[in-house]
Amino acid sequence: MKRRHIVLAGIGAMAAAAWGLRGTAVSAVDRGFNRFALDPEAPDPDDDDRTLHSGLFIADLHADSLKWDRDLLVWSDYGHADLPRLQAGNTALQVFAMVTHSPVNLPWTDCLSASDPNHAAWLAAVQGRPVRSTRGRAFYQMDLFWNAVQRSQNSNGPRLMPVLNASELLALIEARQYNPNVIGGILALEGGHWVGQYDPSPGVVAAEIQTLYDRGLRLFAPVHRFDNPLCGSSEGCERYGLTPAGRTALEEAEEHAMVIDMAHGSEAAIRDAAELLKKPFIVSHTGVRAICEGSCRPARNLSDDALRAILDSGGVVGIGYWAHAVGEGVANIARVMEYVMEMADKRGLNAGDHVALGSDFDGSVATQIAADELDVLTATLRRAGFDNATIAGIMGRNVCRLLALGMPGGGPVMAERIEAALDSGFVQG
Ligand SMILES: [Zn+2]
Repeated sequence: MKRRHIVLAGIGAMAAAAWGLRGTAVSAVDRGFNRFALDPEAPDPDDDDRTLHSGLFIADLHADSLKWDRDLLVWSDYGHADLPRLQAGNTALQVFAMVTHSPVNLPWTDCLSASDPNHAAWLAAVQGRPVRSTRGRAFYQMDLFWNAVQRSQNSNGPRLMPVLNASELLALIEARQYNPNVIGGILALEGGHWVGQYDPSPGVVAAEIQTLYDRGLRLFAPVHRFDNPLCGSSEGCERYGLTPAGRTALEEAEEHAMVIDMAHGSEAAIRDAAELLKKPFIVSHTGVRAICEGSCRPARNLSDDALRAILDSGGVVGIGYWAHAVGEGVANIARVMEYVMEMADKRGLNAGDHVALGSDFDGSVATQIAADELDVLTATLRRAGFDNATIAGIMGRNVCRLLALGMPGGGPVMAERIEAALDSGFVQG
């Protein structure tokens, strides 16, 4: 071998080693952030639980799996969710959210700001993703989603079917009646930090919402864990309401029939959204403050006022699986759901219609339920005394109802067709 070739081979080996080390570092971070805190007291699903579970149409309002360097098509032995694990747990529809800016402050305070060290940017750097721009990171994750859609069509594993409108939701429900090998996916944004950041004029904000819509975004959360140019955050330092740019963004998103998600919104922002929006809005992954105990973070969770505002809009609340949201132990997931149901009942609403799943899989939390063992949750809800119709609603039908009315092409006629398709193929609501 010539000397030049030896040098090149050496450089190649070093680059491969560095790439390998990078991969090891990324998976170590992923393992560390996305842990399980499985409940030793969780019920073991029996035959009745499993039969009920396998007859459900299951929808989950929030997973951050696109943030991590794992292939959605491959069952990974770490992190929380991928298509094979979602399929094993009988999930039919998963919302995939994009996180682009996560401030961290240590020691912990309840005032997070955009200038705190940004975990999402570090992670992007080690993963070889766009480092400098939140928009770049969002677009990268949208490309990952569409790439997974395409690759899954020719794979032996589950097919990822994008759900962009109400007709595609109906097609998914019909397909799932015969083929559990199809999983619907909806793209969501968790924090539109760059929208209106440099130019908050309505035309510029509207153009960016249009771009996001064209790329396939169907669920829009204006804010994440710090106050941004659109909206104050429940963990921000000022916690203001919607800014003028935020109002424009939400009006435009609603005009495009995106679902508005006020998760992480400040009290003022949720109040503003309730006044501004014409359609039901949601909070996709949360707990409630009123029954928060021990390990909960109050600022993270919904106050009674915020909960009332969402319910009064006709929206749904996705309940999380991790202890900071609901407390330790899976029985608390059911307790939080029960609280929301009692509140809905007091508002004169159908109690069970406004609760949904908001796992926050891969959201840098330790979840108490695993994606591939979701029947544990069905068993938990049965032990809590929920009837089958209520469980069917919580596990997915409530989300379908909201999407059937709210997504592009949705409305009362489509909602009826979707309800009928669910009735004929799945546990009745
Ligand atoms: Zn979140």
